[in-house]
Amino acid sequence: MNSRQLDRLHQRREVLLAELHRLPNLMRGTVYERERKCGRASCTCATGGPRHLGLQFNVTLGGRTWTRYVRRGERAEVEALVAGYHRLRALVDEITEINVELLNATPVAGAGRRG
Ligand SMILES: [Zn+2]
Repeated sequence: MNSRQLDRLHQRREVLLAELHRLPNLMRGTVYERERKCGRASCTCATGGPRHLGLQFNVTLGGRTWTRYVRRGERAEVEALVAGYHRLRALVDEITEINVELLNATPVAGAGRRG
């Protein structure tokens, strides 16, 4: 790897680290649509009729899975939190890849004198 390629990797890492430090609030988990009963005894869904599409949130923390209905007004917030987590994961992967490349390209001081 030549010095220009090394410079590019260092610059790219600086950009990614800066974005990492600016990340907004986040939340790990999955958001998905699911049919559910609304709970009203008079509704047709209570007697086998079509159910209502609702948004569900799922996350496993310390081996325990939490499931929660996402209320109508919460959807944008919950999806933004989960998107923040996905961006974090993508940033960590890309920074890791760069660091592995930089480690591979950097000779270790004193290497070869062992043994
Ligand atoms: Zn219903």
